[in-house]
Amino acid sequence: MDQAFINTLEQTLQNPQKILIIPHKNPDGDALGSALALMHFLRNEQHHAIVVSPNDYPLFLKWLPGEKDILIHSENKAVVQKEFEAATLIFALDFNTLGRIDELGEWVAQSKALKVMIDHHEAPDDFADLQYSDPQMSSTCEMIYHVINQLNPKGFNEAIANCLYTGIMTDTGSFKYPLTTAQTHKAIAKLIEYGASGTSIHQKIYDSSSFNRLKLLGIALSNMTQITNIPVVYITLSQKELNSCNYQKGDTEGFVNYGLSLKGIQFSCIMIENEQEGKIKMSFRSKGDFSVNDFARTHFQGGGHFNAAGGMSTDSIEQTVLRFQKAVAEVSAQFQKE
Ligand code: 5GP
Ligand code: MN
Repeated sequence: MDQAFINTLEQTLQNPQKILIIPHKNPDGDALGSALALMHFLRNEQHHAIVVSPNDYPLFLKWLPGEKDILIHSENKAVVQKEFEAATLIFALDFNTLGRIDELGEWVAQSKALKVMIDHHEAPDDFADLQYSDPQMSSTCEMIYHVINQLNPKGFNEAIANCLYTGIMTDTGSFKYPLTTAQTHKAIAKLIEYGASGTSIHQKIYDSSSFNRLKLLGIALSNMTQITNIPVVYITLSQKELNSCNYQKGDTEGFVNYGLSLKGIQFSCIMIENEQEGKIKMSFRSKGDFSVNDFARTHFQGGGHFNAAGGMSTDSIEQTVLRFQKAVAEVSAQFQKE
């Protein structure tokens, strides 16, 4: 972390601030964990701090300490607007382009508040006044751990520890992805000392499935297709299939990873139809040297990390599959030969 970043932040926080903390749309464990941890820390330091999520989030995150205080923009626009008018400081967490927060992006761009971005995705846009961007970090939660540690090493408590543990755990695939370092484990060790309960967090996130979600996983797995002679698989889920399992937000989380559990597969994609938004949400995961960040940016208006990215298509699901197959054929030389 840049010393100038922490010095400026420290100085700014010497005066009471009215703070908005914004995670990306469809926030995951890392986005909400980092936002809530920072909220608790700033409130303990006597600031006014509110988390504003662009939209609702999955049930498996609706236990995070402080989660009930989150303002959901899409459901409370008038209240959120008032918070924006009063805000003196805005934190953008776990995203690096304003397109990731829908309408809030314009509100942030127009706000006169000091804007601080803390994020670990590649290729950040230049919208913040202060930025701590590090794509080598496992998670935004690990970055918030370092920020709090620098600002006030005594500033942790059990709520903060549970929030940060959650995001580090979810973004590292339970401590197994390549960006899980000795530093990550040291941070986790400290968070356990501060009261984080790994077993309980793991159960709340991963052992809280509904019967319908597992039925949907069954459909997803039977729809999985490998592209001939290329180590790439894709899964489709139509709106009709989602409806048949009474789809709830978050139900498809993790499905794309099953593709990568196949021997020899280097790239897995899931395409999920969203009739209401008129688009197909796409998730990309890879192993090894294939950059799904580049692939998502080039072909599907998205981005993310080297081995985990997302994108979208406004074509039908059939058209999207054809486009995906064509795009994969173009990059087929990049896959390692067995
Ligand atoms: P997921 O597939 O779980 O939605 O996202 C995988 C990773 O890529 C996450 O870190 C997420 O923040 C990022 N991501 C997902 N969709 C997009 C997108 O449309 N644009 C960009 N820039 N990043 C995305
Ligand atoms: Mn993240």
